[in-house]
Amino acid sequence: MATVVIGAGIIGTAIAHDLQRRGRQVVLVDRDTPGRGASFGNMASIAVTEFMPASRHSVWKQIPGWMLDPEGPVRVRPSYMPRLVPWFLRFIAASRPSKLRALEAQGAALCARALDDTLALLRETGLQDQISDEGCLSLYADEAEFKADRDHIEILERFGFPHEVIGRQAIKALEPELSDSIGLAVRFPQNRSMKDPYTLVLALAERFIALGGRVEQGDVVGFTRSDAMRDVVLMGGRTIPADEVVICAGAFSARLAGMLGEPIPLETERGYHTQIMAPGITMKHSIIWPAKAFMVTPTAGGIRVGGTVEMAGLDAAPDYRRAKITVKRAREALPNLRCEDAIEWMGHRPALPDTVPILSASARTKGLFYATGHGHLGLTYAATTARLMGDLITGARPALDLHPYRINRF
Ligand SMILES: Cc1cc2nc3c(=O)[nH]c(=O)nc-3n(C[C@H](O)[C@H](O)[C@H](O)COP(=O)(O)OP(=O)(O)OC[C@H]3O[C@@H](n4cnc5c(N)ncnc54)[C@H](O)[C@@H]3O)c2cc1C
Repeated sequence: MATVVIGAGIIGTAIAHDLQRRGRQVVLVDRDTPGRGASFGNMASIAVTEFMPASRHSVWKQIPGWMLDPEGPVRVRPSYMPRLVPWFLRFIAASRPSKLRALEAQGAALCARALDDTLALLRETGLQDQISDEGCLSLYADEAEFKADRDHIEILERFGFPHEVIGRQAIKALEPELSDSIGLAVRFPQNRSMKDPYTLVLALAERFIALGGRVEQGDVVGFTRSDAMRDVVLMGGRTIPADEVVICAGAFSARLAGMLGEPIPLETERGYHTQIMAPGITMKHSIIWPAKAFMVTPTAGGIRVGGTVEMAGLDAAPDYRRAKITVKRAREALPNLRCEDAIEWMGHRPALPDTVPILSASARTKGLFYATGHGHLGLTYAATTARLMGDLITGARPALDLHPYRINRF
């Protein structure tokens, strides 16, 4: 049976690998070479403690302040605001208390499996050296900042995610470069990070090819189908026959879903990183500072600083001032960080208004599947997504009930 997976980011590549391993004949199609989308430059974290819905009340409280602050962690380009209204209305709908409880459980169910599934995938593909052994530190200047993030910690406690509150001395012992202004931290031992998320996609694509899979470069512009899928149509008119199609085109998935008559409320939450090649410091843990809204991860190619959300659509040019703001904030935590030798990057997080991904068969067309909308957690969820989608597509029983992640839930 011919299966075409569209999108060679971490999600599509992991699914293609899983299906090929299970005996499907898979073609992985991307308009670019594998791994050049959001999966290229994310913050490399298996961020199992970050599944909280973005529509929760502690976030709402901060939105007015962020909107007024040009250096705030969330920025909406004024010209893009009208386009955002339908998505934002669904975001509001996702903030009802009963809905929030359900969404927390759905995110936690994926995150509870994420590290084990990632480690299993790395073992199976001989890529264990891609992951670091250390976890992540969440930083707080003082008790007041810690209290402001209390709901996050309470949700982790409710779902049993391991974490440990540590004081100034222990912080210094773990990460001597951190500023004395950090009064306490929470250590998340499971939030380990990949050495380079791009290399990971390339290595996984290689393993997929070694199993007999095929990678094709082409821009998907259409489909032919009856009640079932028939062909994937590429720009220039070339077609690839397909009994099954899996849409994994990240933030661009809505364009393809629209062509297939299944519109999805997918937006891009644009994010930025700065890769610092000669940072002048060494670190073992990744760090996040919730009040300052940035993350720093030690990677194979130096130190990566990132974060920030910019709502401006898929086509607007990057605004690298966003990257400079996060570096400025990061230097408050890491005063000796040198930033001369650095490269800035922008990528598109595929964001659904209720924060949980779509992992689903089509509600309309036989042989059509979707795995998209992983938002801030695509790397974290990739191995779990591949397993669940592999089960769903081959007719095995998925380890999780996939009903909450269905495409027609909106
Ligand atoms: C700054 C930043 C930091 C992040 N940090 C983290 C983190 O620490 N941990 C974490 O888990 N997640 C993180 N994320 C999120 C994560 O990167 C994404 O959720 C994930 O990369 C999405 O993977 P994907 O495969 O769905 O999409 P992508 O990697 O974007 O891949 C989609 C692919 O589809 C292709 N495509 C699109 N349209 C077509 C078409 N018509 N025809 C052919 N090909 C097409 C594109 O070329 C692309 O290669 C971060 C994201 C950003 C931007």
